[in-house]
Parts: sequence; structure tokens; C-alpha cells
Amino acid sequence: MIFDAHCDALMKLWMDRSLSFQDGKSLHVTFPSLLEAKIKVQCFAIYIPETVPEEARFTIALEMIDIFFEQMIERFPMLKFVRSKRDIDALEENEIGAMLTLEGCDAIGTSLVKLKTLLRLGVSSVGLTWNWSNAVADGSWEVRGAGLTEFGKQVVRHLNEAKRWVDVSHLSEKAFWDVMEIAQFPIASHSNTYRFCPHPRNLRDEQIRALIEKNGMIGITFVPYFLTKEKEKAAISDVLRHLEHICSLGGARHVGFGSDFDGMEETAKGLENARCYTNLVNELQKHYSEDEVERFLFRNFYDHLPQ
Ligand SMILES: [Zn+2]
Repeated sequence: MIFDAHCDALMKLWMDRSLSFQDGKSLHVTFPSLLEAKIKVQCFAIYIPETVPEEARFTIALEMIDIFFEQMIERFPMLKFVRSKRDIDALEENEIGAMLTLEGCDAIGTSLVKLKTLLRLGVSSVGLTWNWSNAVADGSWEVRGAGLTEFGKQVVRHLNEAKRWVDVSHLSEKAFWDVMEIAQFPIASHSNTYRFCPHPRNLRDEQIRALIEKNGMIGITFVPYFLTKEKEKAAISDVLRHLEHICSLGGARHVGFGSDFDGMEETAKGLENARCYTNLVNELQKHYSEDEVERFLFRNFYDHLPQ
């Protein structure tokens, strides 16, 4: 069983309406690949491409939710919409859970009502920014590197109340620390360790320790850029190095995977699409106990769901 905390299949389905979740050639994640790889819960991110004008972003978030229900949930009876532990517990053995997440608060502009609406529609986790700035905070590529705005603090407080994850992947370092002060359910859905790959999207040791201390989660991502400086050589062994480092900082119960399939153009060797999770599982089994492997692949994320 696998819990994958991040993929961008929804964005691809939105960009190309002719693409099918059954057999879309350009998709890393399809329904058959989820089945084959024994993925039990897959998070699907609503990510609004940066080229979309500000005033259209909320509508496009709604369009992606529409695609999520029409092209995934309603078309595949074995794929169930889940937003809580209870929903996951209710899945039959051959059923798969699909969770909705938001990547970047650009979609809500400065409106708490838009955020609340997305939560009511079933968004379980909210990433505050993509790489640039928005009304909530600065992202990791924003040179200014500012932290949370007053509105951003309201957003995090609301997520606490609503018992949803606050996703710190993509945030500037300053914003990360601001979030750590007030967030009750922080995660980094798709980020690796800065120690083994110094990239602004990765987490420094003190950030990893802070997430562990806050009972948060870190999803290791398979994006070659975030795995190693020599991205052409990125492979499963790099995934294991990042995993081991998080464990060495005390994070064995706070680490899982957030592949970012469909969110990357190049892929790591042996991790070309969601089916390849089986390769990772084989490799994990060589190095860790059955219990540890089960935790990394599924139970850690499951245990940390706020509701
Ligand atoms: Zn991302």
C-alpha cells in the first residue's frame, strides 16, 4: 500500500482535454498505473499554471475540481474520493482513494471565502505558494524572500480550525518559519533534503527537525533536480539517501513520498511513472524492515492526517 502526497495529473488533464485518465500517453499517473503499483491513496494537486491571469485563477481551480470528479471519480468506480482517515478506512481492498489538494494560494487571491469554498469542495491540504509570491507569502524563487502576510496568517489559522494540512513545499525560508510558528498540521508534500541536494526547494536540517518537532510530514519527491546536483544521474539510490537522512534526524515516523509525477519533464532512472513505485518498494525492502517500509510508503502520511 502506498500513499503518494503529490502529483500534477489534474493539471495535465486540464491543459489537454483530450487526454484520458485511462490511457493518456503523456500521463505519469493513470488509473491502471495506480492499480498496478498498489497505490492506495493518491493526492491530486490543483495547480494553476503561472500564465493564467489572476482574475481567472479561482474559476480554473473549479474547472480542475470538475475534471477530478467527471474524469476520475465518476468514470472509475473503484476510485473513491477521500478526505479523511475514516474515508480511507472505508475503502474496499481493491478500491483506491483520491484526495484533492491545492498547490499555491494564487487561486484564492485575497479571499477567505474562496479558500473556505475550496475546503468545502473537499480540498484536504493547502500549499501556500508555488515558486513566486502571492497574497499569502513568498515562494522559494522570490528574491525578496518575505514571510507570511497578515492574510497568510489568517489562511493558516483557518486551516488549523478546519483541520487541514498546511503544505510548506515551495515556500520561502522566511515563510516556512512563520508557518511553523502557527500551523497545527504542517507538511512538506514534495521536498527533499538540502543536505544531499542544495536547491532552494529542498529543506535544510533545521527545517526538517522543526517539521518533526511539530509532528509534521515530509514527502520525498522524485524530481531529478531535487534529488541530486547531477540530475541526469538521478536514480532510486538518491531517493534512499534523502530518506535515510531524514530518518537520521529522527524522522522515521515523519517521512513518506510525494512523487510529483506529472509535475516534471525529466524523470529519475527507475522512476519514470507511477507504475515504477514497484521498483522503489523492492529497493526499500532490501534496506528496511517490513514495518519501516510500510510506514514510509503508507502509514506515516495516513497517521498524520488531521481528520
Ligand atoms: Zn510542486
